[in-house]
This record gives sequence, C-alpha cells and structure tokens, in this order.
Amino acid sequence: MYKLTNPSEIKQLMNKYGKTFKKALGQNFLINEKVIDNIVAGSNITQNDMVLEIGPGIGVLTFKLAQTGARVVAVEIDSLLMPVLEETLAEFDNVEIINADFMSIGMDKLINEKFDEKKVKVAANLPYYVTTPIIMKLLEYKDFVESITVMVQKEVAKRLVAQHNTSDYGAISIAVQYRTKAEIIDMVPAADFMPMPKVDSAVVRLTVLDKPPVKVSDEKLFFKIVKGGFALRRKTLQNSLSGSVSGISKEQVAEALEYVGLSPTIRGEALSLQNYADITDYFVKNI
Ligand code: SAM
Repeated sequence: MYKLTNPSEIKQLMNKYGKTFKKALGQNFLINEKVIDNIVAGSNITQNDMVLEIGPGIGVLTFKLAQTGARVVAVEIDSLLMPVLEETLAEFDNVEIINADFMSIGMDKLINEKFDEKKVKVAANLPYYVTTPIIMKLLEYKDFVESITVMVQKEVAKRLVAQHNTSDYGAISIAVQYRTKAEIIDMVPAADFMPMPKVDSAVVRLTVLDKPPVKVSDEKLFFKIVKGGFALRRKTLQNSLSGSVSGISKEQVAEALEYVGLSPTIRGEALSLQNYADITDYFVKNI
C-alpha cells in the first residue's frame, strides 16, 4: 500500500503505470496530509452524504473522502490515471470513478443516475486552468449542490470572497456571493504540492444559500448590469455600463444612481450586491 502524500512513493506508483505529470491538465498533487484533512473536515461530510470530486488524480483526497463512508463519485479526465485509481482505491466499494472531462459531462444525467436526485457536497483540489468554469457550472445546478469545498489559486480565492471597494472585487465575486456564503478556510503554500506550482493556493468553502442575500427582480438583467459594471474597470459606472450594455444610456445610469442615492461618479467596484440589485430594480421599473 502506497502513502499517497509521500513524494517518492508517488513517483514509484506513477512509474509503475508509466504515468508522468501533465502540466496542461493542472496535475499538481497534494502532498500535505493536514491540508487534505482540512478539505474533508471543511466539507462536513457524514456517511449519509453524496460527494462529488472533480479531478481525483492518484486518489489522495478521494481516499479520505471514501473513509467517511459517504458515496463518492469522482470525475477524472486523464485515462492514464484509471489503473492507478483502481489500485489506490481498491478497498472501497463506496467510490465510483468516471473517466470524463467534467466540463462536457451532462449534469442532469450525473445527478439523476449517480446521486439519485439527492443534493451533493463537492470536494476537490481543482485543476487551475479550468477553476472558474467548473465553479460556474456547479452553481448553475445549485439546487442539487449543498456546498463546494475546493482548492483554488490564492488569487482566485480572494476574488470569490471579495467585498466591494477592494481590488479583488469583480463580477465573479457577485456571481458567487449571490448564490453562496463564500469563505476561505485554509491557506496552502505552493510547497504542499508535487510538482510545486508557481503560486500559492487556498481552500474555499461555498455554502449554497436557500435564497439570495438580496432581492433581484430580473436576474438576467442583474447579471448583465453586474458584467457591464466591471467591463471598464477604471471608468465610472456611467461610462462602463452605457459603453457595454446596449440599450442603456449614460443619462439613464445617472438617473438610476440618483434614485438609489449613489454618487454620479461612482465606479462599478464600489457598488455592493444590494446596490446592483437596486439599480436593476430601477431599470426594470423605468425602462
Ligand atoms: N485530487 C488530486 C490531489 O489533490 O492531489 C489531484 C488534483 S490536480 C490539482 C487536478 C486533477 O484534475 C488532475 O488529476 C487532472 O488530471 C484532473 N483534471 C484536469 N482537468 C479536468 C477536467 N476537465 N475534468 C476532470 N478532471 C480534470
């Protein structure tokens, strides 16, 4: 039995199956057991849970997820890892590995066939090249997701939890915080991975909310306005919004800002979630 956090044993295991690290697939494997324990503990998994992991790699996190007794389904894109996972997870009958690209997997089918329509807890050390699309895909199916506890690049983590009036705040902060309670639960140095990446990482926990923290009268328009608000970051909201959302003029943005009691020269990054909701409401009523 291999110790999956031990670098020389990882190499040994990979050599056995003629496997090398694929940088393009974000294959930086965790080698600090404490961090893996923190992801599992932070996910609050019990044996009655359904767990979805994206990118099990050689199974170091999968192993600990499986030990909770929960049902674990892990989606791994790299077919060369299939025999490795078969060996490292051989003792569990509550784990299923799917060899597929998570981005092209049908979520409806997955929820239906693998999770019996039950809500899932997502736990993963995400491949960095596709972190945001994976999180957005999961949030599209938020009614079937209870929480998402994932390792991401530190810079991304900061953006997910950022509040207004900070340089990390952007459309992604709002998209995530509109649907979840977002927290950073662990900071992880680059040295905790093999091979060592260039940047540090962090574990974020996104707990899906029963209802959004602000009332939005038209979600589609809300997200259009949020995107427009950050389109020209250095410009005022008036310029950014009117320059990027068709059908919205500078004058209308000025009227909306006055209506919600904000300065006419305010920038998009200074608006809270509530401010964006209020502006959306104004446009719904007045355009
Ligand atoms: N869970 C392991 C760990 O913590 O050591 C590996 C994490 S590694 C950062 C990311 C994993 O995601 C790799 O095994 C990689 O092959 C896999 N992966 C990359 N792109 C993927 C995709 N689109 N769908 C599913 N898995 C993917």
